[in-house]
Amino acid sequence: MSSAVTTARAEHIRNVAIIAHVDHGKTSLVDQLLKQSGNFRAGELEKLAGGQHDLIMDSNPIERERGITILSKNCAIDYTGVDGSNYRINVIDTPGHADFGGEVERVLRMADGCLVLVDAFEGPMPQTKFVLRKALEAGLRPVVVVNKCDRPEARADEVVGEVFDLLVDLGADDHALDFPVVYASAKEGWAKTELEDEGSDLRAIFESIVEKVPGPEVDPTGPLRMLVTTLDYSEFVGRIGIGRVTSGTIKRGQRIAVVKRDGKVGHAKVGQVLRFQGLGRGEADGAESGDLCAITGIEGVDISDTLSDVEDVGALPPVSVDETTISVTMRINDSSFAGQEGEYVTSRQLRDRLEKELERNVALKVDFTRGDEFAVSGRGILHLGILFEQLRREKFEFAVGQPEVILREIDGKMHEPMETLVVDTPNESVGSVMEVVGSRKGEMKLMEPRGSATTHLVFDITSRALIGLRSRLMTATAGEAIVAHRFDRFVPVAGERPRRQAGVLIALETGQVTAHAVEGLHDRGLLFVEPGTKVYGGQIVGEHNRENDLTVNITRLKQLNNIRSAFKEQTVTLKAARKVILEEALEYVEADELVEVTPTNIRLRKKMLNESDRKRANRSAKKGE
Ligand code: GDP
Repeated sequence: MSSAVTTARAEHIRNVAIIAHVDHGKTSLVDQLLKQSGNFRAGELEKLAGGQHDLIMDSNPIERERGITILSKNCAIDYTGVDGSNYRINVIDTPGHADFGGEVERVLRMADGCLVLVDAFEGPMPQTKFVLRKALEAGLRPVVVVNKCDRPEARADEVVGEVFDLLVDLGADDHALDFPVVYASAKEGWAKTELEDEGSDLRAIFESIVEKVPGPEVDPTGPLRMLVTTLDYSEFVGRIGIGRVTSGTIKRGQRIAVVKRDGKVGHAKVGQVLRFQGLGRGEADGAESGDLCAITGIEGVDISDTLSDVEDVGALPPVSVDETTISVTMRINDSSFAGQEGEYVTSRQLRDRLEKELERNVALKVDFTRGDEFAVSGRGILHLGILFEQLRREKFEFAVGQPEVILREIDGKMHEPMETLVVDTPNESVGSVMEVVGSRKGEMKLMEPRGSATTHLVFDITSRALIGLRSRLMTATAGEAIVAHRFDRFVPVAGERPRRQAGVLIALETGQVTAHAVEGLHDRGLLFVEPGTKVYGGQIVGEHNRENDLTVNITRLKQLNNIRSAFKEQTVTLKAARKVILEEALEYVEADELVEVTPTNIRLRKKMLNESDRKRANRSAKKGE
């Protein structure tokens, strides 16, 4: 290497992102890669995982339900190549959803290549397109792993063709289109580069990574530079900054400068340097250029901070942090069923949990100054929905209000967030997409073909109009669109938020829904509850097919003296009740309504549970007009 060139490739390190649709076998593959590397370095996995193969990379239930990866986790694998060299392979998990756009870009900044894992039967799925496009834009070299080749119905060749077409659609260059392919069975632990070969272990995957993915570009002898791209938190050591060292080395106890996003420079002392080891992390004396590591002891460390040499201070190009655009109020549940289903129900418990979340949920903000109500802000409905879903799984119970767009006063005028909306859609759905976005005053900025089957559309649209748009786009494109949005700028507020067209059906009293009542209500609208469901007065039990709200007696019995038969009338043909998921519920409610979230139920309700209170409030609101 010429001495004039300061950067070089760290030849023994590989940083690869893993991109896979849920269930295509990511967990199994990482598990096998770790086990087999353990064959080369005996006993390591057992040591690290405490003898169990409980995988950190395993998807959680929230991820499975939504078909996306939410949390990104890293792991590191030591591998001795056929050439006898020792390699360290950092595998970086990628969040799989457009609402996590900023996070995707950040974690991809740590990688030089990506493993595109695809089921040999199902082929590539639309949900992975977004991350794949970002990976290509970031210049990552793809290695395609066609998994589940042991399945009798595998159609590996066709799937490779589909991946090729997908990459063409995503605008991949020739270099990326010349991707290596490995045929594998993560389950049986083998991989091969030619379909007709016999595979006996996963060498083919390891070798493709070390051969086809370049080592990270580094300056090993330069001044320390490490960009923090992910945060973690532990009760014991506080905030942890994670990222890749691009220049120099970082050592335990080292005094460093911390350059913040705005250029301000602070000083700190490195606590521990934790390197990824298998599925865990292990303390090390230091981490060299090219490697990923987690650093403790730096108070207030944040995304996009550069950890820098003290003498030779410098910053790396910043990474984007998502602007918060949506806010909802969260408070204790005070419905008639309060405290019946959750374990953690007090304001204090909610506050403590939110405070903890703030330490690592990068784009989350919480305003604690409003007494018992917390204003929780995030980068979109999905971002907040997932947090609430997580809390309910941890047995919290609470209520949240209608999501509001975060306004900002600029020069005395109210401004609202305007976003860039990108939709990649099959050509035949372009018309429907334009109609849906147009009806919400989205303005088209760009339309261009992506390959032969896909069209790439870019719009300007307000965050306000984005609420509820995703599900409509999905319906309009039969689930085929990839939708991504990103805050762009603030613009003066124009017009009102579109209100829900339909009114709701509200339960009059607390009790059990009867088949008799349900039957009588069918022509009134669409019900959210079934006979036998327990409801309370003021709970929203359906959507009215008119604009006004209607209070209904849904617990009505046929005859007062015939209680027993009231629940037995299941012979009546009932339209299936519509089950709402949390994000849909958030998008559904109006300002005078709440979403009640408990470990077992998501209910919609009026803020005022009593009908006469609602009437009175309506009347005084009208007078005030
Ligand atoms: P993940 O959601 O991507 O992490 O997928 P998992 O690794 O959890 O695998 C999902 C399912 O596919 C599980 O039931 C696995 O046993 C199965 N599976 C994973 N890899 C293979 C494979 O190579 N062949 C077959 N037949 N099944 C597999």
